[in-house]
This record gives sequence, C-alpha cells and structure tokens, in this order.
Amino acid sequence: MNFKELREEMVKEQLAGRDIKDKRVLDAFLKIPRHKFVSEESQSSAYADYPLPIGENQTISQPYIVALMSQLLELKGTEKVLEIGTGSGYQAAILAELSKTVYSIERIPSLAEKAEKLLNELGYKNIEIKVDDGTLGWYESSPFDAIIVTAASPEIPQSLVKQLAEHGRLVLPVGGKFGQMLVLVKKDKGKVETKEICGCVFVPLIGKYGYNQ
Ligand code: SAM
Repeated sequence: MNFKELREEMVKEQLAGRDIKDKRVLDAFLKIPRHKFVSEESQSSAYADYPLPIGENQTISQPYIVALMSQLLELKGTEKVLEIGTGSGYQAAILAELSKTVYSIERIPSLAEKAEKLLNELGYKNIEIKVDDGTLGWYESSPFDAIIVTAASPEIPQSLVKQLAEHGRLVLPVGGKFGQMLVLVKKDKGKVETKEICGCVFVPLIGKYGYNQ
C-alpha cells in the first residue's frame, strides 16, 4: 500500500478540498504517517474520511476534524500548547509540527504509554505526555498559548480557561455525550469570547470538570 499517495489524496480531497487553507497545517498532514497511529488491521483505512478505533473504547478523530481544530489555533511555531486527550498521539504530532512545545494529558495509562513510545520512535523531542485528569489542566506549565481538548465536555472547563495565556485560543467540543458543538474560546485583555464553529461527535471527557464516566 502506498501510504504517501494516500496521504496526498487525503490532504487534497478531505482537507484542502474543504476549508483547510493553513499551509503549515496541510504540510504537517502530508508529513505525518497516520497509519502508524492505528492498529495493523486499521492501516488500510488510516487515511479515510472517518474516525478509527485505537483500543480502550477510544478513537483517533477524522483527519478533517483534527485539521480544523489545528487550524483554529492559528499556530505560528513559537507557542506552548496543551492537549487534553493524547489518545494515539496523532494530534500531538501535528501540534508538534506547528508549535514549539506540546504538553499532552491522557487519562488511560496504556494509551499514553503507546503514544509516547511511537512519538519517540518518530523523533519528536518537543512533546511531553503525562497520565492525569486533563480537566485540571497542567498548572505547573501554564499559561498556554493554545489549548485543545479532544474529548467532549459538558461545558467549558474554567480550569482550562484560567490556564490560557492572554491572546490564547482554546478549542473544544462542548455538549451532550452523543453530539457536540465545536467551540473556539479566545482570551483578550482578560475578556473571554466564545464562537460556535460546527457540530461534531467526540468520546466523552471524563474527569473532575468533565463527565463522571
Ligand atoms: N487526540 C487523540 C488522537 O490524536 O488520537 C484522540 C483523542 S480521543 C478522541 C479522546 C481521548 O481523550 C481518549 O484517549 C480518552 O481516554 C481521553 N480522555 C478522556 N477524558 C480525559 C481526561 N479527563 N483527561 C485526559 N484524557 C482524557
């Protein structure tokens, strides 16, 4: 299977062919071997236009939604970014291409371990992963220029808004367990503005400021 060709087709059809215009985002998708972030049985579908299972009842999101959330963060390469929900580590790799440092939190130890191993094999030195309840954020390393939550939250966790830097951007799915709204939160001069982007479906964010289970 020619994964490079599949990657190029994915970028052309699913990303650039929709509304992903940030060249740095498109280049990151061309570079990162998404098939390595899924199980061997799923490799032939790794570049398809839908999410895939990654074990532990969790998923790697559809390429388009990963790209859209990444583009909304408007990263230039100098930022410190926090990700909640490491999962397979794919989104963390994309963020590592787009920013200076990525902090990523995963609540399920086996997923965090697997993602860390793969990201090390791929040579990423600017990603730090920890196992914890990400709804609490990562206080010692805050504030963050950008925060991305890759699991569905019943509301915007104020704990994360507090850890967002001035002019920072937070993107997350907010809503019920079976369907949410992707929301962009911006902090400007201490004022917090929110914008609804589009409907989406994510697995639940489970933790103190998320769902109970
Ligand atoms: N970003 C991931 C990727 O690129 O593969 C996909 C993430 S998956 C849709 C959501 C992840 O969020 C799951 O791995 C899940 O275990 C994790 N999660 C759920 N609640 C969490 C919490 N409170 N803190 C950290 N991770 C959490």
